[in-house]
This record gives sequence, C-alpha cells and structure tokens, in this order.
Amino acid sequence: MSDDYRYVFGPVVSRRIGRSLGVDVLPPKTCTYDCIYCQLGRTTRQNAERGEFVPLEDVVAEVRRKLAEEHAVDYITLVGSGEPTLYSRLGDFIAQVKAMTDVPVAVITNGSLLWRPEVRAELLQADLVIPSLDAADAEMFQEVNRPDDAILFDRMIAGLVAFRSEFGGQLWLEVLLLAGITDDQVAQIKTLADRIGPDRIQLNTAVRPPAFSTARPLSAAELERYAAMLGPHAEIVADVAPADDAATRTALPEEVLNMLRRHPASVCETAINLSITEQNARECIETLLDSGAIEEHRLEKGTYYRARNG
Ligand code: SF4
Repeated sequence: MSDDYRYVFGPVVSRRIGRSLGVDVLPPKTCTYDCIYCQLGRTTRQNAERGEFVPLEDVVAEVRRKLAEEHAVDYITLVGSGEPTLYSRLGDFIAQVKAMTDVPVAVITNGSLLWRPEVRAELLQADLVIPSLDAADAEMFQEVNRPDDAILFDRMIAGLVAFRSEFGGQLWLEVLLLAGITDDQVAQIKTLADRIGPDRIQLNTAVRPPAFSTARPLSAAELERYAAMLGPHAEIVADVAPADDAATRTALPEEVLNMLRRHPASVCETAINLSITEQNARECIETLLDSGAIEEHRLEKGTYYRARNG
C-alpha cells in the first residue's frame, strides 16, 4: 500500500491511548519549547505565534479518507512535529472532526499556551488533553524546556490550572523526569500537580534519543519510587507490549518514514506501531537508512531510528 498522506500517520499503537491515528499540523520542529529531551531533535522553528501552517481543509480531508480505510481507531490524536496548539485552526479542526466521527479526539500538548483564553476555549472541545509538566520552578523550566521568551513559568502554570477548572474531559498530566536534573524536584512537582488536579499523572523519562546528551533516563526502580511519591493517580507510561498476532499487514518504506518523522522508534516498536512483522519493519528501516532518509541512534535501551529533519 502506498502512503501518500502528508498530515495523518498511523494508526500507531500509542503507549497511552491504544490505536491512535496521528494528525500533524506543523512543519518539522515548530515548537514553543526546545526541550533537552526532545526525541525529534533540536527545535528549528521556535516561536509562540500561532498560524495556519497547513491548510485546514487538506488536513480534514485526509482524516476523512483515512477513517474510511481504517476502522480500528481508538483516538484521533493531534501530535507530531512540535506544539499543536500553535495551529491557529485547532478549534475548527476539532469541531470538524467531531462532526465527522464518534472517535474521540486527544491533544498531546506541552501546555505552554493554555494561559491564552482562546487556546483553552478551542481545546475544550477535545475528549482528552495531555499537557506536560517537567519542572517545578522557573530556573529548571529554562534548563529543561528552553521556552520561547513569551512563555513564562508562572503563566504556564496558571494556564494549566485555569484549563483544568474549565475542562470537563480527561486531563492527564505528563511528567517527564531526567536523571540528575529534575529527579530531585519530584516533591515540588507533586505540589504543582495537586494544584492543577489532573485525572492522571503519567510519569515518563527520556527513553528515546534526546536532543541533548545531558538528558538521561531514569531506571525502572527510580520510576517506581517517583510514581509512588506522585500519588495514587500516577502511573508509569510503559512501553508497548509485543502482541503475538499484531502483524496483520505489510508496510512500504514510505509509511515507516511517515511514522518515524513524528515518532522515533526501534525495529520492534515500528513493527508493533504499524501492525507489521519485525522482518518487514527491519527491511523498511534498512532501505530508509541506505537512502539517508533516517538515522540510527544507539542507546543503552536499544537502537532507535529517527527521520532526518528536513
Ligand atoms: S518535547 Fe515536545 S514540547 Fe519539547 S521541544 Fe519536543 S516537541 Fe516541543
């Protein structure tokens, strides 16, 4: 099957929300942050100004076409090459998708623009919003998230608190901790999380190749300890478990590249994410490596593949 989608990818088996049809409404690495742990590499287009980076009608048309082909979709998820709330047609996009299908809409956001009332109003239409909180004070926020000058720590926190008070859907707060950097801020992060009041806290660490080599992952034991500190609503975002009958189809290299642009992965994860065999995943990855479209990163936890930015 050819993959001529520009904005829609997957469905991929997400670590958190099952079979997720990804929608990417941004040029590569357009973000309000330049996080040291970013799995997509350094931010090349950093700003806090929203824009219609891609035509809304084209994105909606792709979602409609993909839904006609794929029936097993748990979520339509705005996620991808940067910060999706930078897309100025976000509210229109969610409204049009909700009018088209009953599949719930999720938005994975860094939460940096929630202090803006219009951004909160647009996100109220979503079913699930997953914002980030990686630091407990302004200094650590600068060190880890490296925000655009318009994003101030206190303002970002106030936005999260305001959104929680207005939003009736599920709010899952993602906390990504880094060894030797943020792991001694867990108690203060919990205080902030208590103020925000998410339905769940999802604890993560830098599993995939980071933008800066200083961003190191925590061990499984450390994650367990910090999850306990964060309270009963906290859970470790576990890696996907291999499913024996997962290989239901065959992918071409273009489809694998389309996913790796937004979601760096190992051979095994690629196979699981796209419901293909490991052999099919490996062959596609070798082809993409030979052509220079992707690059290999060897980490302690395994070898990951990421599309070259362009
Ligand atoms: S991790 Fe997310 S918020 Fe941070 S730079 Fe990457 S895309 Fe932006």
